[in-house]
Amino acid sequence: MTATIIDGKEVAARVRAEVAREVAEMRERTGRVPGLATILVGDDPASEVYVRNKRKACAEAGIGDHHQHLAADASQEDVAGVIEECNRNPEVSGILLQLPVPAGLNGKKLTALIHADKDVDGLTHVSAGRLMQGAPGLRPCTPLGVIELLDAYSVALEGAEAVVVGRSDLVGKPVAFLLLERHATVTMCHSRTRDLPAVCSRADALVAAIGRAEMIGPDYVKPGAAVIDVGINRNDEGLKGDVQFEAVAERAGLITPVPGGVGPMTIAMLLRNTVIAAKLAAGEP
Ligand code: NAP
Repeated sequence: MTATIIDGKEVAARVRAEVAREVAEMRERTGRVPGLATILVGDDPASEVYVRNKRKACAEAGIGDHHQHLAADASQEDVAGVIEECNRNPEVSGILLQLPVPAGLNGKKLTALIHADKDVDGLTHVSAGRLMQGAPGLRPCTPLGVIELLDAYSVALEGAEAVVVGRSDLVGKPVAFLLLERHATVTMCHSRTRDLPAVCSRADALVAAIGRAEMIGPDYVKPGAAVIDVGINRNDEGLKGDVQFEAVAERAGLITPVPGGVGPMTIAMLLRNTVIAAKLAAGEP
């Protein structure tokens, strides 16, 4: 294997330790701590695990827990009411509505109700607009994690060719805008892209956010490129990324494993976003 393996667990632990230090410093200085409201509707087991992990990470960092659990039969108005209450509550710095919400509720409309300054998932229209226009604001967590990993391993982005495969609002588009903000020359690919291997193999930094197990082989990769695999795909063999890890590692310069690459970064960046939101609310830079 020629590539250096990017250790997402280690980078995430560093970010989480930094956040914990900042929270302690805020408590010392102001007597207050940032607070996160996780809103879970219904009893989907996977969502319960995700929310539990986020709350545990918050507690470890000293962030206040303002969890709200609503029954699966909660109405759109019930959930909207809880979001509005969190928008008004000064103890709540960040609000996270766990998606998907149960059938019958409109997750997109509910997400849009979150005040942009508390939108720690960075998924509201206002947050997306701020990102697109380069205005200060909260950015989506997984895309921030991708950039943090590239920075941690000193990948030069300015002027570099960056290719993002996937154009979702959650990952692909925000990753592309964050790379553009860092002055990379960005190409966004999707299911209609012609000759994907040829486009991808131009990339100095290749980000795969597709959701198709091991689709990206060595023929998609420029020798020495940094390859960031956002994909999480469960199949009979266990958890797989979008990238053929072993084969691509023979060609890339840097590569994230799955698990242990981008995955741990998402919660770390959520914690950092909660601190940023608390600072925004306090008028701090
Ligand atoms: P998504 O909404 O399903 O988007 C997938 C994107 O991949 C779409 O833009 C789609 O193109 C594109 N695509 C699908 N098949 C393709 C193909 N054959 N060639 C080129 N492009 C293709 O998924 P997502 O929410 O962005 O998530 C992507 C992956 O990241 C999933 O595996 C998800 O589980 C994972 N994920 C991981 C984390 C983490 O914390 N590590 C967080 C979020 C998501 P079209 O737009 O043309 O359909």
